[in-house]
Amino acid sequence: MPFCPECSYEYVEGTTFCPDCQCSLVDKLPEQRQENNIELVALHSLPGIVYAEMVKEALEKEGIKSVIQTDNLSSGLLIKGSDAAGGVCKIFVDKRYQKKAASILNTMMDHI
Ligand SMILES: [Zn+2]
Repeated sequence: MPFCPECSYEYVEGTTFCPDCQCSLVDKLPEQRQENNIELVALHSLPGIVYAEMVKEALEKEGIKSVIQTDNLSSGLLIKGSDAAGGVCKIFVDKRYQKKAASILNTMMDHI
């Protein structure tokens, strides 16, 4: 049965695409143990959550999971509204995709 690598949802045979995550399905889910073993590395810092989310979206289109971390957070929650543009954001990706993610980010930075 095909599975979505993002949300782990099991689809019926013949399905190739998860409409929720916009990603291709895989035949088998990766081992749980591998999931927990992902090493995150920081990419370039971004001048705000808006940019970080743009990058995150672009990376996800390429199948790269990313995590956004902002410097100005004390609560651990994302600050919304007027504060959002203030802080520096770092974006972290799976180390295995670091090169690809960095090149996607570089391309994007040219347009920011
Ligand atoms: Zn999915």
